Amino acid sequence: MHFNSPWQDTNYKTWPSLTENLQAEVVILGAGISGVATLYALLTQTNKKVVLIDKGRVAGGATGNNAGLAVSHIERPVDELIHAFGLEKTREAFQEIDSGWNSLLNLHEKIGLHDNLVPFQSASLGFTSVESFLDFIKANLIRQKLGGDQWDFYLLDSEQIKSQIPPEFTPYFQYRTHPQILSELHVVDTSYMAAAVRTQPIQIGRMNGVRFCHHLIDYLYTLFPERFTIYENSRINLIELEDKHHILHHARGKLLAKELILCTNGYKHFRIIDKLTQQDFMHLHNAIIPREGYLATYAGNSRVPHANAFFRDDKIYRDVPYWYLSQLPSHPHSIDLIGGPEFIYPTPCPENFSEQNAETSLKLFKQFLKQTYNITPTFDHFWRGVMGYTQTGLRWVGCDSHYSNLWYNLGCNGIGIVPAISGAYRIAKLMSGMTLPSSLFDPPAK
Ligand SMILES: Cc1cc2nc3c(=O)[nH]c(=O)nc-3n(C[C@H](O)[C@H](O)[C@H](O)COP(=O)(O)OP(=O)(O)OC[C@H]3O[C@@H](n4cnc5c(N)ncnc54)[C@H](O)[C@@H]3O)c2cc1C
Repeated sequence: MHFNSPWQDTNYKTWPSLTENLQAEVVILGAGISGVATLYALLTQTNKKVVLIDKGRVAGGATGNNAGLAVSHIERPVDELIHAFGLEKTREAFQEIDSGWNSLLNLHEKIGLHDNLVPFQSASLGFTSVESFLDFIKANLIRQKLGGDQWDFYLLDSEQIKSQIPPEFTPYFQYRTHPQILSELHVVDTSYMAAAVRTQPIQIGRMNGVRFCHHLIDYLYTLFPERFTIYENSRINLIELEDKHHILHHARGKLLAKELILCTNGYKHFRIIDKLTQQDFMHLHNAIIPREGYLATYAGNSRVPHANAFFRDDKIYRDVPYWYLSQLPSHPHSIDLIGGPEFIYPTPCPENFSEQNAETSLKLFKQFLKQTYNITPTFDHFWRGVMGYTQTGLRWVGCDSHYSNLWYNLGCNGIGIVPAISGAYRIAKLMSGMTLPSSLFDPPAK
């Protein structure tokens, strides 16, 4: 078994490390998909010169360790968003995210990566409780009005279940026998009593983010070789914030940045201070709650590109209420990918595998696959990655409320691929001087 993601199996071009003092117009800290997409947006939409820095390799963070499901979605429940921000602002937020999905597809076309992001041909969601099934229907009805995909809904035909259904929901689903529900989900596990199914291409695709980032950089290099530099293996330990410029400290010197864009996801192993007061600037670090997620792949037996997710409200999987699997044919074999186990860290997340969490996750994967499909696969890759969730459940895209030369494109990273792209375009617009209406993604005031 390989203890790395399959996205990291290929060797890509390397970049030098920071070895001396430097000055830069714009520094992007973090070369994952958020940083690389922000680089693209700045180079194509502004005249700025940019330095992109990472403590490891390009796309070596969550981007290189995720499940690769590009999906146009915001993690916070849509009815909650409407309640908090109103229908119009919520609609605009989804429009922005949907435009990120389109931009991601277009970018793949532009850089000639036609096979890296292919929408799934079908998808299914399984539910073990009436409550989560109805919640999903409710959310999907609202999301459809805001431009989302339409699903078909099936519920187990049983008197006991029928008695739990409020009448206003009955137009939206059909009753099915238990074998029919299990067959819609392709599972043998009889605890599923409802399904949401989509049998047409869906706005979800699986992509290799490492390949995408490196190809995008190569493309930018042919167009703008003079306007950007990349430094890998260059950890920034301390950032001193100032109105005129920020000072970024690395092992071999300092970097002076007129503008700084943090694309650092859930990593918070660096200190940020206000240069004048020498006080810690905890605004970002207090807001970010890192999570460690585990994933595995195994040789699949399906040739149909298909995505599945399972919502479990039962005691057996108390710690993993949400499981996601994707089947994507790739040559010469089809590879299935499974994810679900996550661990929350109130402090910085450890940079390496936690042995105990890895063992727990592996055990859970085996148990879940046996129970769900009656299979005992041999895993060929098993790995983990770090996500950063904000306290509001919303990504931060924009300028800091205190420093007008400090920017963010980060946070809320369980679903972060598509929002990274829409965020990058928004940052470039704002940095080129455009005034945009306020958004759900505006970083909160300090
Ligand atoms: C297990 C797992 C599964 C996921 N599955 C999905 C999915 O299916 N769909 C989806 O949309 N999203 C998914 N995500 C989330 C998605 O991967 C992320 O939202 C996205 O990749 C984040 O990109 P990023 O560029 O913001 O962060 P990253 O890719 O993590 O990049 C941040 C970079 O900042 C660098 N950095 C941090 N601190 C410093 C420092 N002090 N100095 C220098 N560099 C620094 C890091 O080295 C890192 O490379 C998943 C994440 C994980 C972990």
